[in-house]
Amino acid sequence: MTAINWLEEAEKRKEALIKDTQRLLHIKSILDEENATSDAPLGKEVKEALDYMLKLGERDGFVAKNVGNVSGHLELGNGKELVGILCHVDVVPEGDGWTSDPFGAEIRGGKIYARGALDDKGPTMAAYYAMKIVKELELPLTKRVRMIIGTDEESKWRCVEHYFNEEEMPTLGFAPDADFPIINAEKGIADFDMVQTSLPDSKTESTVKVASFVSGKRYNMVPDDAKAVIVVKGDEKEIIRQFTNFMDRFGIGYQFQTEKGQLTLTVKGVSAHGMEPRNGKNAGLYLAEFLSKLNLDEKASHYFQFVSRYFFDDSRGVHLGVAYTDDVSGDLTINAGKLSYTPETGGRIGITCRYSVTNKMEDTKAKLDALLQKEGFTIENYSDSKPHYVDEKEFLIQTLKKVYEEQTGEKAELIAIGGGTYARSLKAGVAFGPLFPGKPDVAHQKDEYIEIDDLLKATAIYAQAIYELAK
Ligand SMILES: [Zn+2]
Repeated sequence: MTAINWLEEAEKRKEALIKDTQRLLHIKSILDEENATSDAPLGKEVKEALDYMLKLGERDGFVAKNVGNVSGHLELGNGKELVGILCHVDVVPEGDGWTSDPFGAEIRGGKIYARGALDDKGPTMAAYYAMKIVKELELPLTKRVRMIIGTDEESKWRCVEHYFNEEEMPTLGFAPDADFPIINAEKGIADFDMVQTSLPDSKTESTVKVASFVSGKRYNMVPDDAKAVIVVKGDEKEIIRQFTNFMDRFGIGYQFQTEKGQLTLTVKGVSAHGMEPRNGKNAGLYLAEFLSKLNLDEKASHYFQFVSRYFFDDSRGVHLGVAYTDDVSGDLTINAGKLSYTPETGGRIGITCRYSVTNKMEDTKAKLDALLQKEGFTIENYSDSKPHYVDEKEFLIQTLKKVYEEQTGEKAELIAIGGGTYARSLKAGVAFGPLFPGKPDVAHQKDEYIEIDDLLKATAIYAQAIYELAK
């Protein structure tokens, strides 16, 4: 058999690929539970996007199946083993500030602009055309290939949960829903709150009374804003002077305002994804650190000292006694994403802990429980999503590496991340594209786009990958 020029095969289908991508992008498939029906449980347009893919598959001769109106698949070939390609056709809300209609899929300068262009409708269509190429070239396969289409990736993953309750789990597969080359290690994700249980008197003598303190809304974000309302007995100007000195020293933005005997302090940090707190500046921790140094009542002092001792300037859990690292995936990280305190309720810290793939969260949790009991805190709202890891020696990784290197001429370095990709819902799956190294990640942003050249390159890579995995 002569060597197949995969990119040429993709380019032959360019016009149709672009048209079908645009049609899919026109569907406003944002989760819409308010208008849910029994045959469209996640909303009418989410279902429409699913139906669109299933119809496309039927048109081109794939076996199409709707699974519970929240997911579905398109299948090719025969054989016992199953290769899975996991995609999703739901999108996050478009937001403001777009240059053109977010669902217009306008082409400008070689890019298709639309919500979902990069995440994940463009890549879904690339993977679809990849299957189509393999089918049309009538290449012999020994395994079945199945594109699994989810419709709830952007919120609760109810699509894949339902799908894998009903349908078979592929023996291996990939999800075109993150970065090239290959993400083979995803840290574990434990989210929980630390809640102050020891509640000493808040009426004890103090120069500063904290009426309220709040920062952040999500576990997985470094909060960029924090606000405290305090009442100062005595020299308020001196407290303001200390506040501005402290924030200036760390290069943190701030404001203060006195009104009706209350002093409001606001702090502006730098937001970042909670999987790497070092990429941001946690406004809540800076403000808590400042407050911890003041003469507070016992209850407030207990909370702010705790935050200061265990979280300030430490995103690796060193002071908590849970630091861990491995070669495959790096450090355990701790992000204090939500902080709050009032004299009535006491204080809380909402955390996302991204732990290394060889780490056991049970051990980490036991250490935290022991420490917190001693410190007068407890853990609430605990959830844990296990790490995801596919060894480099596996056939899946070896094959994808070979394909990527052949087609791009670049080395296929394996990537470990602290976030979770769609691939973790596959038993043996990795994230494989579509974003090429060095390209800006515009997913979830205004003016989201995919470059048409990259769409074609991804199609070619996926086509060869499908063939090599299933031949
Ligand atoms: Zn996605």
